[in-house]
Amino acid sequence: MKIICIGRNYASHAQELDNEIPDEPVIFMKPDTALLRNNEAFYIPDFSESVHHEIELVVKVKKAGRNIERKFASRYYEEVGLGIDFTARDLQAQLKAKGLPWEKAKAFDKSAVISPKFIPVKELKDINSLHFRLDINGKTVQEGNSSMMLFPIDQLIEQVSKYFTFKIGDLLYTGTPAGVGPVKIGDHLEGYLDGEKLLDFLVK
Ligand code: ZN
Repeated sequence: MKIICIGRNYASHAQELDNEIPDEPVIFMKPDTALLRNNEAFYIPDFSESVHHEIELVVKVKKAGRNIERKFASRYYEEVGLGIDFTARDLQAQLKAKGLPWEKAKAFDKSAVISPKFIPVKELKDINSLHFRLDINGKTVQEGNSSMMLFPIDQLIEQVSKYFTFKIGDLLYTGTPAGVGPVKIGDHLEGYLDGEKLLDFLVK
């Protein structure tokens, strides 16, 4: 399986990092070794002084396909969960400044937290109006709604599948809203999707 991530999919987050609003989705990937499952603790890697949390809605692909038209996109997923795209922001800034790829800052081991539970789409009122948030030590630090995406989920499926064939079990991280910031040892992270707690783990 592969992990496909979308950058700058919320205007408010693009602005907080001084990035342009993209006219096409920004796409990058993480290897399967990036996954951190089952609400296991996240260990801050020693190569970064500033690992940022990015809470994201994650779509699980249930059917293989390429060049998928937007009107058929909803046939390719049936569950949505939550993830955190941990980002070594200091390293990313250095790489960006040199025009180099982001992989070391984005795709390192255990950088892709994934919720143990996914919610069936048919149990959700509207995939394009999903509220989600991240609390750290009991305080909400990031809050988003899929209605605020620059590129909605079905459009992401269309655009990504022009370049990359989807396979069963692939995960699509759909971008983070504003409020990203560093985590520190001892932090308790809790992620909620439409009020249900799906993420609950510690930083060590
Ligand atoms: Zn992200």
